[in-house]
Amino acid sequence: MQKIITRFAPSPTGYIHIGNVRSAIYPYLAARQTNGHFILRIEDTDQARYVEGATDLIIDTLKWLGLEWDEGPEVGGDNAPYFQTERREIYLEWAKKLIEKGRAYADPTDSETIQKYRDEDNAKKVPYLYRNHRPETFPEWEEGMPIRFKADPKPREWHDEVMGDLKAGPEVQDDIVLIKKDGLPTYNFAHIVDDFLMHVNMVARGVEYLSSTPNYLALYEAFGIDQPLLVSLPHILAPTGNKKLGKRDGAKSVTAYREDGVLPEAMLNYLACLGWNDGTEQEIYTKEELIEKFSLDRIQNSGARYDEVKLLWMNGQWIRKIVDEQGIDALYPRTEGFWPESAKNYEDEYKKRVLAIIYDRLKTLSDLREMTSYFFEDPKFDIEQLLTNKFVKKFSESELTALLVESISKLESLKTWDEPSLKDALNELLASTGRKPAELFSLIRISVSFAPFSPALDLTLNVLGRETTLARLNKVKTALSLDQQ
Ligand code: GLU
Repeated sequence: MQKIITRFAPSPTGYIHIGNVRSAIYPYLAARQTNGHFILRIEDTDQARYVEGATDLIIDTLKWLGLEWDEGPEVGGDNAPYFQTERREIYLEWAKKLIEKGRAYADPTDSETIQKYRDEDNAKKVPYLYRNHRPETFPEWEEGMPIRFKADPKPREWHDEVMGDLKAGPEVQDDIVLIKKDGLPTYNFAHIVDDFLMHVNMVARGVEYLSSTPNYLALYEAFGIDQPLLVSLPHILAPTGNKKLGKRDGAKSVTAYREDGVLPEAMLNYLACLGWNDGTEQEIYTKEELIEKFSLDRIQNSGARYDEVKLLWMNGQWIRKIVDEQGIDALYPRTEGFWPESAKNYEDEYKKRVLAIIYDRLKTLSDLREMTSYFFEDPKFDIEQLLTNKFVKKFSESELTALLVESISKLESLKTWDEPSLKDALNELLASTGRKPAELFSLIRISVSFAPFSPALDLTLNVLGRETTLARLNKVKTALSLDQQ
């Protein structure tokens, strides 16, 4: 198999969203699968859109996801530098090569004149193409002067690994700007030069670049360089409708999901499968499995719909997978920062016991905050919550008191406080009271937790311990008895 040399080439223009990251995952997988090379290149030539700190965020996110790069910032490489602003001399030199070949020109036309051309064409209802206004003679290039490509408009045909065989007519090919007034290159030009110099043989990027591809083909041709494999990644669609996923569609930045306790394994898994599948029903993939199974020809060519519910479901699956395969000790260190405030005075061992009985109900690690607080502090005492519970409300307060008295005495009599003894005691209580599990257990569960749900009751009481359990049950019993006086 051909070794894939490819890159992720983000622009540091803001927070890193779901779509950005997916454009990193596919080239990464293709490179790793073929023992190739994955390059990180920072496309920071658009000074107006540059956002301070965005590069650090990109680097941090890729590391978090485990998408390590072979060349790029921090690791260096034969083709350094990897920030385009540090390569401006290279682009200028390459643009000048095209001028020498008669395939580019320095353009002194000012922006007012360009606007005039545009307005004239609009008035005439003809498509605006700069090449129709190309100056007749070109000055020597000097600083501050844009350099434009001299288009060679003709029918073009090419193959896209996702979109198939494509063609475009001359009407979409123009004298695109290569070097801007500020001396920096446009994306259109810089990526062609860099991909060539970095030996890139596969370019995977958003489908929005498809319409410019005929201009890129003309540039490859003008330089006499081989076109890399082109892979257009379809949009990620908003949860409803037919539009591209945007900031307003509830999709958070990758950092926000991370802060919510989404695991990188789940994020990687979810995004890799958002628009790709291996033809089977499998849904949970490790990074290694993705590397093995990934194939370009199974990337779907229509938009994939973003589904946060599915992402969170997958995260829950991953939480379970980690514990089931590697034990609670593998998950525990990753829960740091996700516990309720009140957990901070508790020993690791106790928190591990809590985690061990609750992990299979978590969707994100931050669920721990809400779902475990009663293990660390007395819950807010709310007798109404108890009395309005659908199983508990069937009974009068005196019946409830009697049930609690019997439960307390049974639990008090236990010689050992462990899971099997608690299980037996609860079963015996069911038999002696003649109540259904949902009825008796809801009463006890709410009394000790005042939470909407808890892990299995024997497990919960075991972790809470004898003293806390009995104290909380007694408190409810007392409140109910007082009510009856
Ligand atoms: N800098 C471009 C972007 O962030 C990258 C496109 C490409 O991968 O060539 O959209």
